[in-house]
Amino acid sequence: MVVKKVGNASQHGRTLVMKFGGTSVGSSQAIRQAANIVQGEVSRWDNLAVVVSAMSGVTDALICCAQTAVMGNVDQYEEIITALYEKHAGAIDELLIFDEKRKRLLLDLDGLFETLQTLCRGIHIMGELTPRGMDAVVSLGERMNSRLFSTVLQQQGIHSQPLDATCLIVTDSSFQHAQPIMDATRMKTSETLNPLFQEKIIPVITGFIAATEEGITSTLGRGGSDYTAAILGDCLDAEEVWTWTDVDGVMTADPRIVSDARFIPEVSYSEIAEMAYFGAKVLHPKTIRPVVERNIPLWVKNTFNPACPGTRIDGTHRAGDGHITAVTAIRGLSLVTVEGHGMLGVPGIAARTFAAVASHDASVLMISQSSSEQSICFVIPSEAVAQVIEDIEEEMALELARHDIDRVWAQPDVVIVTAIGAGMRQIPGVSARLFGALGKERINVIAIAQGSSEYSISVVVDAADADRAVRKIHEEVIINGSKKE
Ligand code: ASP
Ligand code: MG
Repeated sequence: MVVKKVGNASQHGRTLVMKFGGTSVGSSQAIRQAANIVQGEVSRWDNLAVVVSAMSGVTDALICCAQTAVMGNVDQYEEIITALYEKHAGAIDELLIFDEKRKRLLLDLDGLFETLQTLCRGIHIMGELTPRGMDAVVSLGERMNSRLFSTVLQQQGIHSQPLDATCLIVTDSSFQHAQPIMDATRMKTSETLNPLFQEKIIPVITGFIAATEEGITSTLGRGGSDYTAAILGDCLDAEEVWTWTDVDGVMTADPRIVSDARFIPEVSYSEIAEMAYFGAKVLHPKTIRPVVERNIPLWVKNTFNPACPGTRIDGTHRAGDGHITAVTAIRGLSLVTVEGHGMLGVPGIAARTFAAVASHDASVLMISQSSSEQSICFVIPSEAVAQVIEDIEEEMALELARHDIDRVWAQPDVVIVTAIGAGMRQIPGVSARLFGALGKERINVIAIAQGSSEYSISVVVDAADADRAVRKIHEEVIINGSKKE
């Protein structure tokens, strides 16, 4: 048997971490399916850790609950709590037979619902909802579901136990998007999980949630359960991390837009990172960080089609053949332009512009500056535009008065369409094909950026052109591009 050293405790054998996303545990039918998947893997691994999200829709409902509480709407938050209770109780009725385990689960759930009531009442009375308070509320969805899922496994005869990741993952205190502190996390994870593994217990761990060094509940950001699985995979030096979702794996494009989007069997860490960043909703963007360093393969699999092997994501750099792997789109954006003839050669304009943007916490998705230096443009989420423009105007008041800068303006309703593929590195002609495709379709390109990694080319187009742009790039560059090879 292989003995691996992890943290300060030893862990034996091969470890698999697998995570079930919200839809994979979103109904009793789905939960049954997910439990069967776990059952199928139990004997194949020395150590198996399961991570679960809240049932689909629960996190949204909890957010709504806290928001209605702070607005003073008691009836409405009570209604949401009742609906949430019914959702879980309904699943329990359909999934579990009457026994001691079920009784214990119901008691546990009662406790969590009581906590929810207390938190909402507190928020309501104080009339204040802090990010920390919000994390306390939203953490309950995962807590409920880990207990439910573990009980289902127990009734199937699997030795299992629910576990709150608050006793595994240590984070800083940036509530709602907390950052893990890896050394402390590694230590706690091995201390807590290794004894369970030794007893052949399968922990069902809450995704998404963690705790600060002081033990206060935090969360890793929406969709963060993938990240939980990857963090644990890293800490346990897992053989593989699997994320179970409701699609066959990573696709060449969003199948709702491109009817002949294809399934991608293998993709590299760098490509998936760009895809997650540029709007493909298949993985939380931070997920790959922890697995890259240890070169742990990450699989995206379909709970509802387990026969399909899914997409394997790993560190292999497939040959640069000019091939483009996928095309994505991010919507709801605006393009802000700072322009003026007097900007030429004046140092510090870009720095001051972006400092003004940063003061709003608005994330800049793309930047481009013409080499004539007469304009800087960048793309930000539309909801931040009015404030950002006001702030840049304030910062540049002098330059505007002197007409070094002529205007700061925004083009609303733009979309970033990005073609991604490690294969385009150092291969000329890829952008020509891409722009050729857009030209044929008579789509106006508003701005262009290529990451220096050369893993992606992004174009900004009008929202009205976005779907056509995605389809055309997919057809000409991915489908026809692969035919030529
Ligand atoms: N339940 C959380 C959310 O909906 C985390 C997750 O699903 O990954 O954002
Ligand atoms: Mg979710």
